[in-house]
Amino acid sequence: PAMLGILGGGQLGSMFTVAAKTMGYRVTVLDPDPNAPAARFADCHLCAPFDDVNALAKLAQCAAVTTEFENVNAQAMRDLAQHTRVSPSGDCVAIAQNRIAEKSWIRKAGLQTAPYQVIEKLDDINESSLAYLSGILKTATLGYDGKGQIRVHTLTELREAFQTHGGVPCVLEKMVDLRAEISVVVCRLNGEQIATFDPAENIHENGILAYSLVPARLSENLQNQARKMAVRLAHELNYVGVLAVEMFVVGETQDLIVNEIAPRPHNSGHHTIDACLFSQFEQQVRLMCGLVPADTRLLQPCCMANILGDVWGDEGSEPNWGAVLDNPLAHLHLYGKMQARVGRKMGHLTVLADDATTAYEFAKNIRAKLEKKIACSAKIRQPERL
Ligand code: ATP
Ligand code: MG
Ligand code: MG
Repeated sequence: PAMLGILGGGQLGSMFTVAAKTMGYRVTVLDPDPNAPAARFADCHLCAPFDDVNALAKLAQCAAVTTEFENVNAQAMRDLAQHTRVSPSGDCVAIAQNRIAEKSWIRKAGLQTAPYQVIEKLDDINESSLAYLSGILKTATLGYDGKGQIRVHTLTELREAFQTHGGVPCVLEKMVDLRAEISVVVCRLNGEQIATFDPAENIHENGILAYSLVPARLSENLQNQARKMAVRLAHELNYVGVLAVEMFVVGETQDLIVNEIAPRPHNSGHHTIDACLFSQFEQQVRLMCGLVPADTRLLQPCCMANILGDVWGDEGSEPNWGAVLDNPLAHLHLYGKMQARVGRKMGHLTVLADDATTAYEFAKNIRAKLEKKIACSAKIRQPERL
């Protein structure tokens, strides 16, 4: 069977690997972490830095290569593309990994973003910056889960924040009147073969995605508009693969603006494993191999909830998995990460119900029970620990 390659072996790479293996492919994962979640399932784990020449040479021999995160070396992806099929392209990844490039590009594609100012040096902060206050100063690169973001209200705070960020290039984004957050996962092979999953309604806690509800509790009209915008971006990028587009619903008038894009499957698409006809990871496998996108339909309203390291005990004791597994409509997914840390994504659960609000209530309940850190009941097999 053909060997598929993936840059990155975190939870996204892990779920990709399971999907690919299920479909009969072999998988090579490049990840410097010896305990990378995807290594549990991969045929070959290249445990090396992402720019390791020998490892990249091995990936170049795969039938097709994809990525699970945006902070790979875009040039390495372009180089790989000289030897094998690489999707998404290094160019698309380069845009997604830099907020400055990303935002200007989104606007060039004719879509709205929050008002923003590029701040590359202290001098860029002046009277004109006042128009973007109160705002959020975000580092241009490497931020995720709200890391690399500082809220600022005055020019003085803005200057301080820029220095706190170490003087690296940033984007100052005006705080918008957020009414809801949604995301659309697009599956695109080419100009004709394109499909979108139902928009997910995302609820964050402390800057980290906590819940995704599907269907989103927004009008059909707004949801269709969101799908159209996501499709437009995918076409503009001539994108091949799975693309996630995060959007904000802003103000009384419920305007849709684009927040950011991710050139890969997305946390808010994890419900597709259990609640859709095909998962976003099967889609990733199909598209990187040049196959048409599969049907994106939702089979059952649901709510996905992330499980963070916060619910582990101080001594590393595990949460009460019975809180999830004793429920006949809840799926548990654990990523097999060795170390639980506050804010670290360790797994997720997906609750199915007759409607998204009911699923959300269920999921909140389960999450609250997990937090109680009751000792595991003996009948539940604990995930392996090394
Ligand atoms: P991710 O983990 O999604 O990659 P990130 O660190 O890249 O997160 P953003 O998605 O830009 O950060 O922002 C994180 C959250 O902060 C958003 O989901 C939203 O709740 C809030 N936020 C970001 N920008 C704005 C804004 N301009 N106005 C209001 N809220 C915002
Ligand atoms: Mg981001
Ligand atoms: Mg985001």
